[in-house]
Amino acid sequence: MADNAKANDHLQSENDVLRRQLESLLHEARQNENKMRRFDQFQQQLIGANSLLELIHLLLAEYKLAFGVEFTALALVDREYEVTRILENDPGNDAASGGLTLLQSPDALVTLYGEKRTPCLGAFEAPHHQALFNAPFGAIASVALMPLTRHGELIGSLHSGSADQERYIAGCGTDFLERLADIIAICLENTLSQERLKLLGLTDALTGVQNRRYFDHRCLIEIGHARRHDYPLACMFLDIDKFKRINDTYGHQAGDEVLMRVASFIQTHLRVGDTIARYGGEEFVVLLPQTDMHHASQIAERIRGCIAEESLCANSGHSINLTISIGLSMLPIEDPAVENHQLADRMVAAADKALYQAKHGGRNRVICGQPAD
Ligand code: GH3
Ligand code: MG
Ligand code: MG
Repeated sequence: MADNAKANDHLQSENDVLRRQLESLLHEARQNENKMRRFDQFQQQLIGANSLLELIHLLLAEYKLAFGVEFTALALVDREYEVTRILENDPGNDAASGGLTLLQSPDALVTLYGEKRTPCLGAFEAPHHQALFNAPFGAIASVALMPLTRHGELIGSLHSGSADQERYIAGCGTDFLERLADIIAICLENTLSQERLKLLGLTDALTGVQNRRYFDHRCLIEIGHARRHDYPLACMFLDIDKFKRINDTYGHQAGDEVLMRVASFIQTHLRVGDTIARYGGEEFVVLLPQTDMHHASQIAERIRGCIAEESLCANSGHSINLTISIGLSMLPIEDPAVENHQLADRMVAAADKALYQAKHGGRNRVICGQPAD
């Protein structure tokens, strides 16, 4: 009997230990899940940044909120003063860029990281770290320094400082921070090239979407990708129906507003990586990489239907109803000898022809074109 009770006690305490272990594992799993969710949300914000300034603001201010740290700082290599010029041209500049240092060479970062190109975690060391942050002396207890690299080159460094000594411990796993640093570096490169394009005048001034020059350039790049990786590419021409009448009825300014709204409306239906451009007056063109005709026509139908259903309230107070016609085409499959620009011409011509048919078929409709000969 006494033996039984002893065995019971033993089992009971073994049970308690296991339960505690399970609870601790569950707690850790929940924490990791929360961390991943915050990471995903933050990543989405980074990818969605529309300007370099917005991206910098995310890395400095939003980062603190997303990951619960007290101090952040960002250093960017800016050899040609390009970042300086872009930020100077941004009207929102004053507020957002505190904590940013622009370096004329990567030397200081090379010194900071040595041979390593992985995040450094550990205790705050004033002689090495104080200058990296704009923080009161003694406020930071531990730091994470993330090198930002592209094609093996240091393009910047993101610094995160915590008042908690246990927050960043030397020797801890850095997989998570490495992934984040990779995404940040890609986003920086991407936003910089977007800014370059803006500077080159490839954006339509009225609607803020790309202009035809950009489209012509992008089209060849997308066709190159699609052929190399053997995936479909869809092209969509969208033209506002009877737009002249909108201008005539409500005035040119209301017409401009309609153009802006339609452009941003189309954008809300697109993914990162799709291209929208204003092709001319009241005509837009969209490129949908990795999209077959079936999906492209679903997207086109959704855009057409939503625009037809909604009435647009112009600044003048007028409620304007409008419809659009859409012509769709696919990148034709051709033998490799045919050049990209020839395929671009055929794809555009087929979408344009489909649009023409949509107009003649009564407007407010989507027509899927056949590849042109
Ligand atoms: P359809 O259904 O056949 O496309 O008829 P539509 O009236 O839309 O086509 P049309 O080509 O006859 O007229 C296009 C109009 O778009 C004429 C032009 O004044 C106007 N437009 C072109 N660019 C702009 C612009 O930047 N702002 C404004 N407000 N109107 C513009
Ligand atoms: Mg029109
Ligand atoms: Mg037109």
